[in-house]
Amino acid sequence: MQVDLKSSTSPVMNETDGREPTRRQFLEMAVAGGAIALMGKMELNDPHTVFAQSKLSPSAALAALMEGNGRFVSGRGTAHQHDLAVIKQHTASKQEPFAGVLSCSDSRVPVELVFDQSIGHIFVGRVAGNIVTPEIMGSLEYGALVLGTPVILVLGHGGCGAVKAAVEGKAVPGEISSLFPHIQPAIDQTGHDVEAGIRANAKLQAKLLQESSPVLSGLIHEGKLKVAAGYYELATGKVTLLN
Ligand SMILES: [Zn+2]
Repeated sequence: MQVDLKSSTSPVMNETDGREPTRRQFLEMAVAGGAIALMGKMELNDPHTVFAQSKLSPSAALAALMEGNGRFVSGRGTAHQHDLAVIKQHTASKQEPFAGVLSCSDSRVPVELVFDQSIGHIFVGRVAGNIVTPEIMGSLEYGALVLGTPVILVLGHGGCGAVKAAVEGKAVPGEISSLFPHIQPAIDQTGHDVEAGIRANAKLQAKLLQESSPVLSGLIHEGKLKVAAGYYELATGKVTLLN
């Protein structure tokens, strides 16, 4: 993927390219600062604040995700009330998601719904078993470096068929077995316990993102990014952070 860093107006770029900010960049930063000040008085997920969200700190961004999940679990979600026409208009030419999420392809883990978010809020990578492939790594690096997502959450889920199949290790058709080597390190830790394997896999994939990507580890070192692992419980809809 070719990334045109020069055309980005992301605050991440402004702080790391070593040049003095131009007058235009300075104005953009001033506007962003005003938006952050406004956020204290506005609902976080108000569509009008959509462009301010990536200015959140890593911890605040993770907290915002978990608060969204809390609204989802309690049935008090607000994302569906947003004026989608207005949000589409605001995000048509630009996105500033406040979080990256790597989730499984499983149809029971609809990421935006789970975190009570709408258009433009979450940069999502999805692949069976929520594994870190080079393409997934590149996608999340783009989200963090170019779009400025201050947090990446790797989300495993209960009853994950990919982890279960990897544990069973039976012959499977097509390219399905290409998923298994990525999940094997978790199975090496937890044996035949699928649920433990799911949790271990989410943590190991998060560790892989943190440690094997110079781009992401650089942002973590600068305090601009946090990578976390979580577990989604199908029956309750609750996300629990894994340590
Ligand atoms: Zn799964």
